[in-house]
Order: sequence, then structure tokens, then C-alpha cells
Amino acid sequence: MANTDPIHGKVFEYFYKIASIPHGSGNTRALSDYCALQAEKHGCRVYREDNGNLIVYVDGTQGYENSETVILQGHIDMVCDKTESCDKDMVRDGVEVLNDGEYIFAKDTTLGSDDGIAVAYMLTLIEDRSIPHPPLEMLFTVDEEVGMLGARAIDAKKLSSNKLINIDSEVEGILTVSCAGAIRAVCKIPFTTENTNGSCYKISISGLKGGHSGTEINSGRINSNKLLSRLLNFVSQDVDFKISSISGGKKYNAIPKESEAVVCVEDKNKELFLSVTQKFISSIKNEKVINEPDLEINITQTSDTGKCMDSRSSRKAMFTLLQIPNGVQTMSPDIPNMVQTSLNLGILETSDEYFSLCFMIRSNASAGKQALVQKLKSFVEYLDGSIEFMSDYPAWEFKAESNLRNTLIETYTEMYGEPPVVTAIHAGLECGILAGKIPDMDAVSFGPNILHAHTPQEKIEIASAKRCWEYLKTVLKNLK
Ligand SMILES: [Zn+2]
Repeated sequence: MANTDPIHGKVFEYFYKIASIPHGSGNTRALSDYCALQAEKHGCRVYREDNGNLIVYVDGTQGYENSETVILQGHIDMVCDKTESCDKDMVRDGVEVLNDGEYIFAKDTTLGSDDGIAVAYMLTLIEDRSIPHPPLEMLFTVDEEVGMLGARAIDAKKLSSNKLINIDSEVEGILTVSCAGAIRAVCKIPFTTENTNGSCYKISISGLKGGHSGTEINSGRINSNKLLSRLLNFVSQDVDFKISSISGGKKYNAIPKESEAVVCVEDKNKELFLSVTQKFISSIKNEKVINEPDLEINITQTSDTGKCMDSRSSRKAMFTLLQIPNGVQTMSPDIPNMVQTSLNLGILETSDEYFSLCFMIRSNASAGKQALVQKLKSFVEYLDGSIEFMSDYPAWEFKAESNLRNTLIETYTEMYGEPPVVTAIHAGLECGILAGKIPDMDAVSFGPNILHAHTPQEKIEIASAKRCWEYLKTVLKNLK
């Protein structure tokens, strides 16, 4: 049964206190004030930015005064979400914390253990001078959950160290040591039109799984824009048609689930067009590599579109869509089964004069991203198109030699009798943003078991939060 008794211990006292202060993204002023006040109360120097970002400077404890400084980092904002029936105002009120002895969770809302547990660990370290540690620079960032705005804004010159421990991972026993950087690309390919007559059809693809364009790019999920290109190219081998429009997908960073094309066929080719399209539809459903049980492809006659791409432009559109790179490009040479570089054709659109293809390009190595940017650029320019890049952010690259990582691995192995899993993530983290600002950054991310983060079912495992606290303290002790 759930109960409201707080879990014993300083870390949990802070955790409950943090939960009582509303701190959704964009609403972190009160929690930022509270952390700054705690730090000052315990004699620590605080650097504060207008947005609420904080750096708290904590001296090394006795015997550690001259040890190398370490940065500890977590974010102070949380995702606010609640069940449909919940009428809590999460801007004004903190969450109601419950526990069942095994997990801590919130009544009808997100809990904010992502990343309140990091904040609780850091506040405890500020208060308790009996815990041995090197000089610490505690970085509390705001608005991680809405584009990592705090990490993007932080003046990293206020940090003297390049060793960083990020506490914002959600599976205990995993040390994350690299994340992907990314850049968005918009490719516009011009076409010429002509008036057509004949029959027009709308071909729509739907029911695909979709998914995250980074972490799920190697999961075998089908990109609807790419599937559309296969269909159009298959049919064009046997029968001529012209393209009126192609479109699909809504977000750069989601594998598209739905796409459609409107095409025009001369009336004499109608029957052939329909039968070849049907042939593709039945064969694709039998392809063993496609694990998409809800895939649907429908073809319906539609009203005359008037203008279409001319034959040459229609062929160019099909060629572009089929040949332009998409999906996993290279795998990591350092970490088994980890994608290094990928891109996702997230959005496809047609305007009056050009069609556009929007990509999210990711790589855990900056060279990989650069090479793919060049490849895409040369492809698009060869087709007389234009390409624009935006929202560039750096990768947190795997470091071949890392003393910090070695200490975390050795400490874990000593404490738990087996080594931790060392891995990377093919998506963006605050560490990536920070890697672009801290020269030669040496970082590791870990954290306790948190389930269903960002949903009202969010919960943190109490025993895991305790173990990670012991682990953090032992790591700090070993960083003499
Ligand atoms: Zn987080």
C-alpha cells in the first residue's frame, strides 16, 4: 500500500523537499533559489545566471584540499504531466510524494526524480562535510527537458575542471560515456510542372511504428517516406505516371509513420498502374525483414490535380527519394552494437516549385557528422537543389583514455563484484552540449533506476537510489 511517510535519510529529506517545490521546465526560479540558499547557508560560493543556472563551489574536504576538482551535474527542471482526472496546478503546487516501500512515486503526476535525485545528492554533499571528496563544482542546469537550454546558456568559463560526473541516467549499473551530436538539414529540390489529364490517385502509407530517430534508428522500423520511394520506383518500372505531390512525416527527430503521394496516370494505363501497385502492396507485406504488422497501403482515386511534375521532374523526385541516404550509416568502433552515425528523413513536403526533404543527422563523432553533411550536400547540389543546415550541436565523443571512467569502473567493480556496462547513447544529452564548451571534457553519466520518466507513472527505486548514493560517495572518496 502507498503511504506518505518519508523515507529515512538526508538524501530523501532533500528529495521530498525538492518535490514540494514546483519546478517544471520554465518554472525553476523557486528551486534555483532554494539550492542557492542552501549552498550559501553552508558557506559555499555560488555563481548564478539570470535563467537560474547555478554553479556551487564546494571546497575539498580534509586531505582532499589539493585534489583535482570534479564537476557534478544534474538538471533542476522536471517534466510536468498528470493523469486526466488530476486537477493539481503543477505551476503553483509541488507534487504529492508517496511510496510503497520499494518505489517512490507521486500521486497522479510525474515525480521529478528525473532529475531531482541528482539535486538531492548534491545538496546532501553540500551539507554533510563528513563525506570525503575533492573540490567540487556543482552545476545545476535549468530547462534540460525543453531543449537543454540551461546547458546551452551556461558560461563554462566559470568551471575550472574538465572532469564531469553527470547524474541523469535512469538505469543503475550503466555508465554512459558518449552521446550523439546532431544537425538538421533541409534539402530543396526544384521541379518543373506541366498540365496533365488522366486519372489521379492518392497512395497512402500508414500504421508504421515510427519511433525516436536516434535511439530507435537501428530497430528495423520502416521509414514511411523511404517505403513510399520504393513503391513509386517499383511501379515506374512498368508504367509511366507523373507525380503531383509527395509528403510524409511531421518531425525531424521521429521516424515517419505516414506518407502519401498523389500521382496522375494516362487513362489508357489506369488498369496496369493499379495492378502493379497492388503487386507491390502484396509483396511488401510478405517481406520477412519488415516487422510492421499494422502497415497499411491504400490507393484511392482522387480529383484531378491540374498540374503535375513533368516526366523528367517526376523521375528526378523518385531517384532522389530512393537514393538519398537514410538510416544507420556507421557503427561505433569503440562500443559494440552502438550506432555511430545516422540520419532520418523525418519530413517530406511538396510546394509549388520544389519538394523538400528534412533530415536529423546524428553522430557520436564529429567527423562522422561532418562526412555525412558533405555527402548530403554534394548529392543535393548535383540535383540543382539547395541545402540548409541548422540547430547544430556537438557530440560527446568517446574518450580513448579516461582516468575518470577508470575510477568509476574500478569503484563499481569493487563494490558490486562485477563491472558496470559501459555504453553510449545515439541521442543528445546535456553532456554533449557541455562537451562543446569544456575543452577535452572527460565525463561519465550514471544514475539510479527510474521507471516511466516523463509520465504520471514515473517512479524511482528506493534501494537503487541508496546504492547509487553509496556509489557516488565511494567514487568521490577514490578521486583523491
Ligand atoms: Zn533528466
